[in-house]
Amino acid sequence: MIPVTAFAGRKVAVFGLGGSGLASASALMAGGADVVGGDDDAATLARATAAGIPAADFHALDWSRVAALVLAPGVPLTHPAPHWAVGRARAAAVEIIGDIELFCRERRRQAPQSRFIAITGTNGKSTTSALVAHLLAGAGYDAQLGGNIGTPVLALEPPRSGRAHVIECSSYQIDLAPSLDASVAVLLNVSEDHLDRHGTLANYAAIKERLVGGLGDGGTAVVGVDDNWSQAAADRGEREGKRVVRVSVRRPLSDGLYVEAEQIVEAAGGSRTLIAAIGGIGSLRGQHNAQNAACAAAAAMACGLSSAQIQGGLRSFPGLAHRMEEVGRIGHVLFVNDSKATNADSAAQALACFQDIFWIVGGRAKTGGIAALAGFFPRIRKAYLIGEAAAAFSAALHGKVDCEVSETVARAVAAAARDARACAAAAPVVLLSPACASFDQYRNFELRGAAFREQVMALPGIAPIARA
Ligand code: ADP
Repeated sequence: MIPVTAFAGRKVAVFGLGGSGLASASALMAGGADVVGGDDDAATLARATAAGIPAADFHALDWSRVAALVLAPGVPLTHPAPHWAVGRARAAAVEIIGDIELFCRERRRQAPQSRFIAITGTNGKSTTSALVAHLLAGAGYDAQLGGNIGTPVLALEPPRSGRAHVIECSSYQIDLAPSLDASVAVLLNVSEDHLDRHGTLANYAAIKERLVGGLGDGGTAVVGVDDNWSQAAADRGEREGKRVVRVSVRRPLSDGLYVEAEQIVEAAGGSRTLIAAIGGIGSLRGQHNAQNAACAAAAAMACGLSSAQIQGGLRSFPGLAHRMEEVGRIGHVLFVNDSKATNADSAAQALACFQDIFWIVGGRAKTGGIAALAGFFPRIRKAYLIGEAAAAFSAALHGKVDCEVSETVARAVAAAARDARACAAAAPVVLLSPACASFDQYRNFELRGAAFREQVMALPGIAPIARA
């Protein structure tokens, strides 16, 4: 745990007592703050009380005595409407911050020179964060991985030299971290997602860009410049005098890192240097992972790693579950769990990796549905539609792709396995890449992926593929 001393002796209201809220409350208490916790859900509040967090009725709170409201990232700050607790805090001019802001303040007090790599982007955050932590750990750092992935940031070990904090940041978390000053800030990409919580794409992109704008002295921004929003963020960062390393997987750059022929190349001062080869690394399949790998390599270089260290780390990266995860094979048929693909952009990355696809798709559709995926339809042998989106997707595919409404993952796996096994293509793939949120049928994408894995494992003749 990282005790937060910045509020010692002062009253702090922590609202939203899930994993990160509990960690914030405990860290503040350990640092000497007078904490009160609140949550709209009575059961969550009761659990927090049982864990020793003093609970209060936030409607009855004397906000004039509160130094800060620490908000969980899931609680709306601005869109679709500010939560009522946000309204109360604002009315009393109480600052509203999140756990990453607390981490930043504590790091500045305790170990401002320690490595702090903050990673954001619409897609690829978790993969890149895990990969950066893996690269740094391989090079001897005590790498602390957390934030929006796995462990809440304040439940990690405290900053100190020799230790690197690799923190995945969602846009919600950045929105709650006004003084976020990473030593390496990675902005992977910006595309349409979560607009329900941020209003407009411009607003969403501006929040992500704050990671670059807030960079600490002597820091480095790593920016994937393959979309216009990120490109603009890189340009602005440079104009403000930041050190920006540009990364592209679409075109060779004259200055920065780019990927060509499955190789990460550094271009600087007219010369080109091979940093690492990524071809044949199963956990980094696809152009999207090339972007993740190149950005991770740039971040690792900013932390002083050599090409050899980066190459070794890339090769031994086991990948993350539910992201293009090879689950098993029956004969020539491969089963891939990409449950994490909760939007069309993510699903596009998976569809681009294979030729003969038996595609399990659906759930709770995002704005735009699967229209943007039309370019991949010729690769799809058949689609198996699940969840709420089945009727709409069936209409979108009508006349273009053979499809059936399976409704459940179980029925979809059975039907897709049957058809794929009968397919004469060299390498047919049964791919769960839903392009949708899971909430209509599962609490989260992990449970959806687990259901897929379970059904695949129950197929007769399945040969499981163990993760490295
Ligand atoms: P995040 O943490 O940002 O949600 P993940 O690393 O968990 O991202 O990857 C989620 C999904 O997004 C992957 O399964 C893949 O389909 C897609 N994806 C991963 N990296 C990228 C990228 N760089 N660009 C576009 N899509 C990506």
